[in-house]
Amino acid sequence: MPELPEVETVKRTLNELITGKTIDHVKVRLPRIIQKPDDIQQFEILLQGQIIETIERRGKFLRFVLSDYVMVSHLRMEGRYGLYAGDDPLEPHTHVLFRFTDGSELRYKDVRQFGTMHLFPKGEELQQAPLVKLGLEPLDEAFTFEAFRNVIAHRSTKIKPLLLNQAYIVGIGNIYVDESLFLARIHPEREASSLTKKELMLLHEAIIRTLQDSVEVGGSSIKSYVNGQGEIGLFQHQLNIYGRQSQPCKSCGNEIVKTVVGGRGTHICLTCQPLKRGRTTKKSEK
Ligand SMILES: [Zn+2]
Repeated sequence: MPELPEVETVKRTLNELITGKTIDHVKVRLPRIIQKPDDIQQFEILLQGQIIETIERRGKFLRFVLSDYVMVSHLRMEGRYGLYAGDDPLEPHTHVLFRFTDGSELRYKDVRQFGTMHLFPKGEELQQAPLVKLGLEPLDEAFTFEAFRNVIAHRSTKIKPLLLNQAYIVGIGNIYVDESLFLARIHPEREASSLTKKELMLLHEAIIRTLQDSVEVGGSSIKSYVNGQGEIGLFQHQLNIYGRQSQPCKSCGNEIVKTVVGGRGTHICLTCQPLKRGRTTKKSEK
């Protein structure tokens, strides 16, 4: 499952590859990918002649901003885009083709077929599903400590599932939640309201740093995306805790354990991230 840094990298890559191109025609080969409009032919017709102005990201959704419409695309498990010459042979699992007037073709491939596309008149996409209920954007300037604290601090939920909830903060997936909690030295099962201001500050910083570092690494793999070759990896070489169960913690040397929190595989160093007890939600912290 691509995480926010991967989607950010896809966004940047697509911006380099297709901004300014004009869509000549579109062919949908697997109707279930298109969630809106209901009429697939309508989707194809509306996109004819549209110019790709830019591609933006909201959480893990890509927003293709066109002359008159916005196409919202989610890659889900294995969706990916590649730019091809129009006469390149079709690879298996190619479901949507966007042919440009210059003869090149953007192709959407998706082995699992879970990806989605929604087409909206420009401006309406933010008022409707799937973008309407999304929470704070962690790489946005608006993701200040105060904003973070406001959505997190008073809740009696465990911190990890809270961070994964897209209604509060978007786009921090399982990997980056584990990484951020490790950096901030917070046990994933701590109750959010038990976190001190200092811990919340560390966590806020850790989330931004973890995501930004990954985006930077991802940026260097941009070329691999041309012609659909790109499996944009999960940048695992720089992960400190995720996937490192039974290995020594990079900070203290003790063994990293893997457990389940909120139904998700979770990696913890119990030395660096002790599960403090005894603090209740009542203590006020102004
Ligand atoms: Zn440790």
